[in-house]
Amino acid sequence: MRPSGADAGATGAAEAAPPVPILMYHAVTPAPTPAIRELSVTPEAFAEQMAVLADRGFTPLTTAALAAAWRDGGPLPPRPVLITFDDGYAGVHRHALPALVRHGFPATLFATTGWLRGRHATGGPPDAMLGWDEIRELAAAGVEIGGHSHRHPSLDGVGEERLWQEVARCREILAEETGTAPESFAYPYGHSSGRVRQVVRALGFRQALAVRNALAERRQGPYALARLTVRRHTGIEEFARLVEGHGIGRAFARDRVLTKGYAVVRRTRQAVRRD
Ligand SMILES: [Zn+2]
Repeated sequence: MRPSGADAGATGAAEAAPPVPILMYHAVTPAPTPAIRELSVTPEAFAEQMAVLADRGFTPLTTAALAAAWRDGGPLPPRPVLITFDDGYAGVHRHALPALVRHGFPATLFATTGWLRGRHATGGPPDAMLGWDEIRELAAAGVEIGGHSHRHPSLDGVGEERLWQEVARCREILAEETGTAPESFAYPYGHSSGRVRQVVRALGFRQALAVRNALAERRQGPYALARLTVRRHTGIEEFARLVEGHGIGRAFARDRVLTKGYAVVRRTRQAVRRD
């Protein structure tokens, strides 16, 4: 079922690389819109979660740094963890950045370029978004800026032309606005396919993140790294268990059923459209 299973045979070195928790956040806000509520966290919860990472001796890395270490077989710091934010919500700058700076933690923001405020805006974001000055301030503070498409479609469900446009436009805008071509990508909704991964790679991204709610492992391959969803109802004890890699299956059991059901619905709709 998973194409990444093909390289699960792996080498001794790959098997020796321990799994890494990659945390996926969206909005950090005291007052989310209903659309993003479940995928948001309060500023207090976020600050508390960062304190847990510090207390337990975790070392946050950017996505590029983890991928480079796994690519080159380079050393990783003790207890690596990734802190990632999807879409580009305003609270990442206003509420999350102070907590990241306090601990000296790097992070990665995956920007939906057409959702951000300013001259590339196409409309449609579910909550208040960052502007380009804030994106540049985040980058200057050690946040890697990665791509997350231009208008946030499920990339495995769009046509060839739209797929290339979504990834290429996002990359061009980020390079233009930040002065640095992005090298990491996150699939909208976590959805990808072999074709989507090929396009992301062909356009110059060196690694990409999915969702899957599991720890990331080197053998997943650089274009299908798993992430853990942190949500508004994720309590601090559950958060601590997740980053330690305990009870992940239990925490996301219901999500797995929902995600599978949704995938079936989408496949059925696509099949109907083709007929
Ligand atoms: Zn997204």
